[in-house]
Amino acid sequence: MYHSIDHYREDPHLVTVTPQRFEGQLAWLRARGLRGVSMAELLDAQDAGRARGLVGLTFDDGYADFATRAVPALVRFGFGATVFVVSGRIGSYNAWDDGPRKPLMTVEQLRTVAGAGMEVASHGRHHVSLPGTGGTELREELEESRTSLEDLLDQPVRGFAYPYGHATGREIEAVRSAGYDYACDIRPDEPGRHALPRTYIGERDRWLRLRAKLVRHELRRRSRV
Ligand SMILES: [Zn+2]
Repeated sequence: MYHSIDHYREDPHLVTVTPQRFEGQLAWLRARGLRGVSMAELLDAQDAGRARGLVGLTFDDGYADFATRAVPALVRFGFGATVFVVSGRIGSYNAWDDGPRKPLMTVEQLRTVAGAGMEVASHGRHHVSLPGTGGTELREELEESRTSLEDLLDQPVRGFAYPYGHATGREIEAVRSAGYDYACDIRPDEPGRHALPRTYIGERDRWLRLRAKLVRHELRRRSRV
């Protein structure tokens, strides 16, 4: 689970990985015979029993640096990824936190990354914590974000990522009934297709920590941790 790939002066929310570190992490995956793929590709491969060697790479929030920094590196490595976009904030900035301000992808950038083979999926409309929403707002966050992205990209949107990783049984059920094929959580109590666990990767993650995280993620995925 990544957010932003960029140079930075301050990063209080620990959402940014420098381009050099990111490339090193991709190189580490490749050196171990692993390939980064989108969640859609990973899940299809799992369904077909051929997911060995694949690692799902996700980028939350849809920062502009996904298009300018992450995708060029991913393409060089022959990797794919999923970007979870806040549909009501396209071309704007991350107004949901207290900064630093980072620009979000424009419609044109979204079309470019989709054209480069990246999976574009939904992170809601306004990046709100879903357990605090009423029924109507919850439905709008899930359904409108999906249909507006599908209209912009002219392709189906299969995935959702819960803002802040906040999801109770109610939200998980709502995501499923809104027609999403899968959803990414962070540390779900009960992992499932609509509550997939993810592991945070940050600037401090070099090979030893990456190896530890890979092992831990594998255990968590099987619900043992
Ligand atoms: Zn987010």
